Amino acid sequence: MAGLPRRKAQQGSRTMAKNVESPQSPDPTEEKCNRYDLLDWLNKRLEIQFTRVEQICSGSCYCQLMDCLFPGCIDLSTVKFQTQEQTDFLHNYSLLQAAFKKNGVTKVVPVDELIKGKFQSNFVFLKWFKRFFQMNFAEQVYNPVEARKGQGIEPAKPPLGFSPRPASQGRKSASRSLNQSGGLETDTDEEGVGSGVRKHIIYLSTWEETYPWAKPSTLGDKYAYCSLCDINLNIHHSGLLDLKRHSQTKNHRKQSQAASNGSVTPTSVKRKGAHPAL
Ligand SMILES: [Zn+2]
Repeated sequence: MAGLPRRKAQQGSRTMAKNVESPQSPDPTEEKCNRYDLLDWLNKRLEIQFTRVEQICSGSCYCQLMDCLFPGCIDLSTVKFQTQEQTDFLHNYSLLQAAFKKNGVTKVVPVDELIKGKFQSNFVFLKWFKRFFQMNFAEQVYNPVEARKGQGIEPAKPPLGFSPRPASQGRKSASRSLNQSGGLETDTDEEGVGSGVRKHIIYLSTWEETYPWAKPSTLGDKYAYCSLCDINLNIHHSGLLDLKRHSQTKNHRKQSQAASNGSVTPTSVKRKGAHPAL
């Protein structure tokens, strides 16, 4: 977008933003406690109830935070607050980038990373944004719900092909995670909020009778976890059929053969190398 007309700058009282550098290589132990604080901060600011950092990947939250900092820098009526479409995510980020440019914010928005819904990139960016916000916040009076005309902000769900966080975590935390504060690892809580009817298939533990290797996934109830292959499977289109399809993959058959021979195949090691196509 070269050659933005300078005249645009006239609108409103334009103040240049104070830029904030992003901290390099965040300490992973620090993240554990911080993500709750970050979400808590975001939830209060925007009067929303997000439970996972990944849910902000649609970009709409940032658009609204910019509107709070620099009133009028984004036309909020054009922000897609209720969407699960990646094209809408891109749209939101393009609004954000334009607002950054308008206000002299030099931070590069890693859009491609963010829209994938990965925890790490979204966490790092949110962390940066919070610092940026605090640096530029001048106690503006702001009613977030009113500003977005009463709309809720729909938590983004991890898009298809979303690669699981630590895959090894799957087995251990599958049941335990349900009890963590805010239902952090489960999708069930936000299902009911604003997304309307549940049209997709969700995981059923009865499937384990047919496929003993199937386990609930930490990614939520639209996924199943294969304890043999140590991977998460998207099951919300065909359910049991997705499991059947997976059971016929070359890799899975190899794993199950190895398991029945009693030889333990270190899947974690294998995953480091070329992952066999599904
Ligand atoms: Zn498998």
